[in-house]
Amino acid sequence: MPPYPANFVKFLGTAGSRFVVSKQLRASGGLWLRLAEQTVWIDPGPGALVRAYASRPKLDPESVDAVLVSHKHIDHANDVNVVIEAMTHGGHRRRGVLLAPGDALYEDSPICEYALSYIGQVQPLTETTVYRLGDLTVRVAARHDHPGETYGFLLEGGPATVGVLTDTRYFAALAQRYAAAEVLIINCVLEDNPDHRVYHLDRHDAERIIAAVRPRQAVLTHFGLRLLEAKPWEITEAMGQRLGLEVVAARDGMTLEIAGKAE
Ligand SMILES: [Zn+2]
Repeated sequence: MPPYPANFVKFLGTAGSRFVVSKQLRASGGLWLRLAEQTVWIDPGPGALVRAYASRPKLDPESVDAVLVSHKHIDHANDVNVVIEAMTHGGHRRRGVLLAPGDALYEDSPICEYALSYIGQVQPLTETTVYRLGDLTVRVAARHDHPGETYGFLLEGGPATVGVLTDTRYFAALAQRYAAAEVLIINCVLEDNPDHRVYHLDRHDAERIIAAVRPRQAVLTHFGLRLLEAKPWEITEAMGQRLGLEVVAARDGMTLEIAGKAE
């Protein structure tokens, strides 16, 4: 089994709607990101811990430096408690950082108070959060248009700036907020969202954003049922050809190497 690259994102899940998550048509363990010698677990949904241990090579939760939660919905935050227990050696080694919206920490929180006490630092997110984690900067790119307090991120450091555009309804400023992303990961739940009625992006929104940002690599993930039925890998291939860019559909367990700009 080859070791992981120095900088990478591992997709511990690519499920994006209630149905896809509850039937586990795709896994829902979130993103494991290693960048600038920091390890960040983003949105550990149901099965996150299981998916980390089942990965080959195995991913060790005790190596996680930070847990980053975009919002408190179950597909993004369900396994935060078990991840915290694992990364703190069952609460015996107080360490690490948890970054999450205030409404995921204090009001009707899915995170247990005793688990919060295991974490080295709890950092509530706001629209202007810039958090330094060693040589990695975690920046809130935007507050999203999604029920509850929801944020998307830019992770800066190492060979590339990675944009993690989490759940949101489309709005005009989105592309500009993620303009710095050289690698752009987009939660694209829907096949089609007429009149933007649902609080998620569809594939047309994703294409519009990618066309404006023009990242080196774009990845669609967090798929709903209709989009899965429409074969996301075919959608991204056609999209990539139209845009002249590398666009891929994430698969469960996929490792995406974050590399520097080719000379
Ligand atoms: Zn979601």
